[in-house]
Amino acid sequence: MVEVLHVDAFEDNYIWLIRGLDDTSKVAIVDPGDEIPVYATLKKHALTPLAILCTHHHGDHTGGIDNILKHYSIPVFGPAQEHIPGISHRLKQGDPVDLHGLGLRFEVLDVPGHTRGHIAYYGHGMLFCGDTLFSAGCGRLFEGTAEQMLISLNKLSALPDDTQVYCTHEYTADNLRFALQLEPSNPDLLAYIKKIEKLRQTGLPTLPTTIGAEKTFNPFLRSAEPEVKEAAQAHCGHALRTPEEVFTEVRKWKDRF
Ligand code: ZN
Ligand code: FE
Repeated sequence: MVEVLHVDAFEDNYIWLIRGLDDTSKVAIVDPGDEIPVYATLKKHALTPLAILCTHHHGDHTGGIDNILKHYSIPVFGPAQEHIPGISHRLKQGDPVDLHGLGLRFEVLDVPGHTRGHIAYYGHGMLFCGDTLFSAGCGRLFEGTAEQMLISLNKLSALPDDTQVYCTHEYTADNLRFALQLEPSNPDLLAYIKKIEKLRQTGLPTLPTTIGAEKTFNPFLRSAEPEVKEAAQAHCGHALRTPEEVFTEVRKWKDRF
């Protein structure tokens, strides 16, 4: 079982530290937007980083790379299609990521939508998906189209149900307020809202989530559900014929929510 530590950064970002299987004092850092809180966690747990994994080019996911490289000479994995200073390994769909010294191996998934070249890392029953999938939500469409994002999300929802999903923002409570507008009587959603309310009182992350759970209440994975479709139609005031049209409307609705 691989252990993952969280580092709080900025308002609501998580930087994940994946402990090695071979040596648990070694870690891979996922999306280091800020180096300062990373150093504090490394020091607290006596950890040494052996690699950096990047999902996309936004500053809140990459801003700490430069400084970390000044202290540690380690490989930086990231998307082939995006410009990120410091990247040593440029990755695309299907590429293996072998993390030497950690005993970890991930596979790369192309998940465009939030950004054009966004990638995710899948392995050891875990998914590091950056700003593509959030618990009860999905990333905003900054560079890609709704169609691209839906294809990316379908790719992620096809992963095994017990996949542990490590998103990079604590947006769950906000997302749930929106999800409730669409499916006010979804029992899985109502149960999850209760669970998250309790968890947030402790100040702990609501993540990781799982693919299986998300499929039961995340409106962005439920464009084919009649209740989601009806809510979206009522909101936009016209008929929506396909899951793509439903997804597009739901994403637009959330942008203004
Ligand atoms: Zn982003
Ligand atoms: Fe972000």
